[in-house]
Amino acid sequence: MKLRLLFFLALLGLSGTVFSQTDSRIYDIIDAVSESRIGADVATLAGFGTRHTLSDTVSQTRGIGAARRWIKAEFDKISADCGGCLEVFYQRNLVKEGEGSRIIRDVWVVNVVAILRGTETPDNYIMMSGDIDSRVSDPVDFTSDSPGANDNASGMAGTIEAARVLSKYQFKSSVVFAGLSGEEQGLFGGRGLAAYAKEQGWNLIGILNNDMIGNIRGLDGVISNRDFRIFSEPVPPTETDRQRRGRRFYGGEVDGISRQLARYIHKTTQTYMPEMNPMMIYRLDRFGRGGHHRPFNDLGFAGVRIMEAHENYTQQHQDIRVEDGIAYGDVLEHVNFPYAAKLTAVNAIALASLAWAPPAPTNVEIGGIVEPSAKLRWEASPGAVGYKVYWRDTTSPTWDHFRMVGNVTETTLEGIVIDNFFFGVAAIGPDGHESPVVFPGGVFRD
Ligand SMILES: [Zn+2]
Repeated sequence: MKLRLLFFLALLGLSGTVFSQTDSRIYDIIDAVSESRIGADVATLAGFGTRHTLSDTVSQTRGIGAARRWIKAEFDKISADCGGCLEVFYQRNLVKEGEGSRIIRDVWVVNVVAILRGTETPDNYIMMSGDIDSRVSDPVDFTSDSPGANDNASGMAGTIEAARVLSKYQFKSSVVFAGLSGEEQGLFGGRGLAAYAKEQGWNLIGILNNDMIGNIRGLDGVISNRDFRIFSEPVPPTETDRQRRGRRFYGGEVDGISRQLARYIHKTTQTYMPEMNPMMIYRLDRFGRGGHHRPFNDLGFAGVRIMEAHENYTQQHQDIRVEDGIAYGDVLEHVNFPYAAKLTAVNAIALASLAWAPPAPTNVEIGGIVEPSAKLRWEASPGAVGYKVYWRDTTSPTWDHFRMVGNVTETTLEGIVIDNFFFGVAAIGPDGHESPVVFPGGVFRD
């Protein structure tokens, strides 16, 4: 705390004015995330025996029905503690037998959703998700014990805990906390909620999908409670042929909206949680594998997967058993709660920064062909007090350079040649929170 105060005073001394580089509320959010509450919630979820999508829905103690009712009750409780600040509901999707090889009978895939409504731009949404369902070795075995403690009670518990912590604050944009189902059967819950968001006209800025955030002992022999991964696809699958052709001449191969969201989380983590090691992975997901951010990406929404860096495959999708001296199964004792709490805080601070920030600038365009200086222009973002123009070497993964340009809608970066860098623009709010960086979507010549 003392160090933080000194740092703050140093900033004050340097700049004379407080255009906050850091927001003390973000440190409060990090401190408020509770590893013991996350531990208790993972234990409760694992205690439902199985949460397989096709499992029992009637029992009060076993199966996915009991699990989702408990999750909804937790969100309701959080809401009661903040004067009804959450809108809590089930979002249901009927999936028909045969829609996927793992859907062996008609089933209602039921998500649990809690919305913390924004005060200024309530139609802008930022979402954190975890999964309700679990599985064992046989993907259609819906009766065997399947605690799914790490996959994915950890992500679900983190989402509930983030709702507890963030419900103590008010945000400009709406924050959504979602428990998704049907993940292991073919990403059906995410598909359903993504379609719902589209139907409802949500301006969904990003999805932070958490899938396995509790294992620190990798099968690769590495033990690390600091490393974690942020997966993001390079460009949206919904881009047009024209956009794809344009990239050949103007760049943008590694600058899609999901990648900018990944950079945002990477930067927020490095700023506020320097003890952590965020690893941006430049791919949609693990090699050939899936996660619930993908159905959102499929509809053109920005979305990333946040997860541990060192996986243990003997503890994923396995019947609980001992074979050749190896204990298989996704059981409670392998989940590291302090680490899950760290990754929950990573989410919570990114959600808070995004939800406190003004919307990103729109119609960002770039000019400066055969000129010594790059130029940018954009449309004003409501609530912004200024803009930051970023640039980076074409080989760099992060936005390494920036210039504050005040409350304007165009600027010229004198002496910075357009050919040698990539550029982007972010909007800044009065308390210093920034929108994601927008990569130019158009070119001008004048
Ligand atoms: Zn899984």
